Amino acid sequence: MSMNSEALQELIAGRFPDARGRFGPFGGRYVPETLIPALERLTEGVQAHLHDTEFRQTLGSELATWAGRPTALTYAGRLSAAWGAHIWLKREDLAHTGAHKINNALGQALLAQRLGARRIVAETGAGQHGVASAAACARLGLPCTVYMGAIDMERQAPNVGRMRLLGAQVVPVTGGDRTLRAAIDEALRDWVSDPLGTYYLLGSAVGPHPYPYLVRELQAVIGREARTQYQQAAGRLPDAVIACVGGGSNAIGMFHAFVPDRGVEIIGIEAGGRGAMLGGNAATLSFGRPGVLHGSYSMLLQDADGQIQETHSVSAGLDYPGVGPEHALLAHSGRVRYETAGDEESLAAVRALCEFEGILPALESAHALAGARRWAHAHAGGTVLVCLSGRGDKDMPTFQQTLLAERP
Ligand SMILES: *Cc1c(COP(=O)(O)O)cnc(C)c1O
Repeated sequence: MSMNSEALQELIAGRFPDARGRFGPFGGRYVPETLIPALERLTEGVQAHLHDTEFRQTLGSELATWAGRPTALTYAGRLSAAWGAHIWLKREDLAHTGAHKINNALGQALLAQRLGARRIVAETGAGQHGVASAAACARLGLPCTVYMGAIDMERQAPNVGRMRLLGAQVVPVTGGDRTLRAAIDEALRDWVSDPLGTYYLLGSAVGPHPYPYLVRELQAVIGREARTQYQQAAGRLPDAVIACVGGGSNAIGMFHAFVPDRGVEIIGIEAGGRGAMLGGNAATLSFGRPGVLHGSYSMLLQDADGQIQETHSVSAGLDYPGVGPEHALLAHSGRVRYETAGDEESLAAVRALCEFEGILPALESAHALAGARRWAHAHAGGTVLVCLSGRGDKDMPTFQQTLLAERP
């Protein structure tokens, strides 16, 4: 499809998802029959509450007084001088619990309360969504169970402790790949067993309809704020907007407000890992093919037989073989370009942001920075707005083994 395609016009008019939860050919609901009524109920709940005045006021007030919004927009002056283009950072690392995840967790927990849920289940990979969910549930007095792959529990031990302190029950998942993919399967299974009393708080813009839409609406606050802040600071719009893409929630949150601004280039950065070889990366839109995962038809990393591929990224939060269906459509329509950043260049970007700006970014966010560096080299003097999705304290074990091991 070209830039002038029908899909692009529809995207800009904000017509997706359609009534069946489709983003063009992508999205929908590929789930067991037993989950359809629960998804219908959730869709009705989203329609009744999400844009309701009372809900917006409560959410807005909690975001402002508890979660730390609006987050700052920072001009990275020394980094700009070094890289040759003007680099601005949307500081989701300053949001409560250290990443954009809280925007979604808080919004869905408030929705669950309105829907009369007695308990919350969530999945987590690196642990950031689990921590955000545990915090939001504690704030609202809702019991919270978090499913986490046994491998992730080992490599993200500090976040397991944080979740427990915040009152969540963390359940190890020992089946399947013992990482995020298996944790989502387990959370869905829990939800099927009690679809009325339990609310499934999904952590990214993936899964069956209405989740990709719901998560986008809750994360769109990032781009709304950033667009206004940037216009106030610079008197115009940036030349380019860049975010990292795992499941795609911080990216869709950042991009949504800019999709109609046709003069603004939009770029998503996936985890290039060690390279293009099978199993060496988690770059779904760059190397995947269409398929069904976790209830949604989207792009997917799979081998020639349709088996889901192993993935690799130095960043646990990007290490997922699927991607949200709206990104699949944005890629398909040509409105957003998706590129990769590898482990090494992302680690180098961590060091650069630390040394030039005094900010320790999450490894996920460093992928967006590595993409911005490449963009800067090709567009000297241009302006680029980067979503700094989270802070890097959680990644200290990885930094000890890499950046700090190189320089004792
Ligand atoms: C979870 C996470 C991501 C990846 O998830 P998306 O849904 O793609 O945003 C990126 N950055 C940080 C800091 C995260 O915690």
